[in-house]
Amino acid sequence: MEEKRQKLIVNQETEEDVVLNISLRPQKLTEFVGQKELVDNLKVALQAAKQRKEPLEHVLLSGPPGLGKTSLAHIIAHEMDTKITATSGPAIERAGDLIGILTNLEQGDVLFIDEIHRLSKVVEEFLYPAMESFQIDFVIDKGPYAKTIKFNLKPFTLVGATTRSGLLTAPLRERFGMFYHLDFYPTEELSKIINHSAKILSLEIDNDAADEIARRSRGTPRIANRLLRRVRDYFQVKKSGPKVNKEIVDAALDNLRIDKAGLDEVDRRVLKTIIETYEGGPVGVEALAATLNEEVDTIVDCVEPYLLKAGYIKRTSRGRQITKLAFEHFGLPIKAEQKELF
Ligand code: ADP
Repeated sequence: MEEKRQKLIVNQETEEDVVLNISLRPQKLTEFVGQKELVDNLKVALQAAKQRKEPLEHVLLSGPPGLGKTSLAHIIAHEMDTKITATSGPAIERAGDLIGILTNLEQGDVLFIDEIHRLSKVVEEFLYPAMESFQIDFVIDKGPYAKTIKFNLKPFTLVGATTRSGLLTAPLRERFGMFYHLDFYPTEELSKIINHSAKILSLEIDNDAADEIARRSRGTPRIANRLLRRVRDYFQVKKSGPKVNKEIVDAALDNLRIDKAGLDEVDRRVLKTIIETYEGGPVGVEALAATLNEEVDTIVDCVEPYLLKAGYIKRTSRGRQITKLAFEHFGLPIKAEQKELF
């Protein structure tokens, strides 16, 4: 999903970025910054499962892209000393694909399904007995000769990730033993992640420079790491001084058209469209997406969660509505008839 967003913004991920992204991924729970409540609960569950020598119960992780869901799935496998098989909802096209994956799992393995809300109905129904009793039902033959054969799987842990837990069907949701929601990160935690990543990249960076990247990262570790890599490119090419300082960060991020609040061009287009075309709203997300020539999913998953969280828009029963903060951000005057919006 974040990739979708990246297509829309100035700097696309290069192959090197993808490799670096993996090397920056936390391996152990102690390296995972923030989300304290989630980490504390997960720690207890992991320890209890290990003591009982049982696989961890199935875990559902929800939250906007780039906040650490995939990282947590890898950490769970690492902490349980097992392997991870990673796939995604849209990648599993037929029930046969899922059967292939499930029957290859070893005792205690982690199966990670990203975008689990996008599984097809048929595939999802195959998953129910697999999650509940580690069995799958094969139907062989057709018509009056059709027979169902039960196949036993080795106990495994399913880690599902979703940007939209609301789209999950009730039967699927009920089969998870744990639900965790990941929220946007505060600046201090993002600074910590940036400093840690800078060390891995052998990049020397001032504290206020790391803080500035953190402030402009939309509360998202993946964006923080990406901006750090762009700053590193800029620093390398400009060869300006021994250390990355705040001036370098400001220049590099201004070049990328990331503004002081961390909003990028997509964010600004969305806000300006609500203000200029829809007079501040409320506007339905379908109409907004059509005007912007974007997909509804991109707006709902990648753009609006942060704009809502940071208070630039709010959700009403009639659609998305702009806030005073957005007008202030652009330095736009509020018209008399728009005053009643707030
Ligand atoms: P998601 O699956 O939610 O889209 P990822 O797990 O792929 O997010 O995280 C994106 C990147 O952000 C990771 O590669 C990792 O470098 C970094 N990251 C995410 N969460 C954390 C965290 N809590 N601590 C440190 N780094 C993190």
